[in-house]
Amino acid sequence: MSTFLLEIVTPDRLVYSEQVNSITVRGIEGELGILPGHIPFVTPLQVAPVNVKIGSQVTPFAVQGGFVEVRKDKVVILAESAERPEEIDFERAEAAKERAETRLNAGRQDEVDHRRAELSLQRAMNRIKVSGGIKH
Ligand code: ATP
Repeated sequence: MSTFLLEIVTPDRLVYSEQVNSITVRGIEGELGILPGHIPFVTPLQVAPVNVKIGSQVTPFAVQGGFVEVRKDKVVILAESAERPEEIDFERAEAAKERAETRLNAGRQDEVDHRRAELSLQRAMNRIKVSGGIKH
């Protein structure tokens, strides 16, 4: 089975760098599958899991927005933050989700705060989904 190099990079660290068979990402226009030999392109990503397939094994990563860039030699995902399932602190994500929901339900905040709470909720839900509800 052919492979390509996938790198997941954040401002802090190289989260992942491996030869993989395929990935699926959620671009702004929806779900996208990337296989070896895909034509070069760049697109923004939603806050959503990136599923990485090697053989029959699929590993999800919690990727908080950013971009995917398909190059000739590799695929790079560049995001503000990204975590593997085992790196996720489930309780921290649950607490972030509750804080965001409280803010969203409180009403009377300005548009900027509302948007910020929505984005925080998306990140928390993405992490909860990817961690599979595993408590550490
Ligand atoms: P919180 O309110 O809990 O800080 P957040 O969504 O505001 O969550 P980010 O700004 O997206 O956090 O991330 C800041 C840093 O903390 C990043 O390095 C990210 O990987 C890490 N991080 C955030 N939440 C978690 C979590 N639940 N488990 C593990 N790492 C996390």
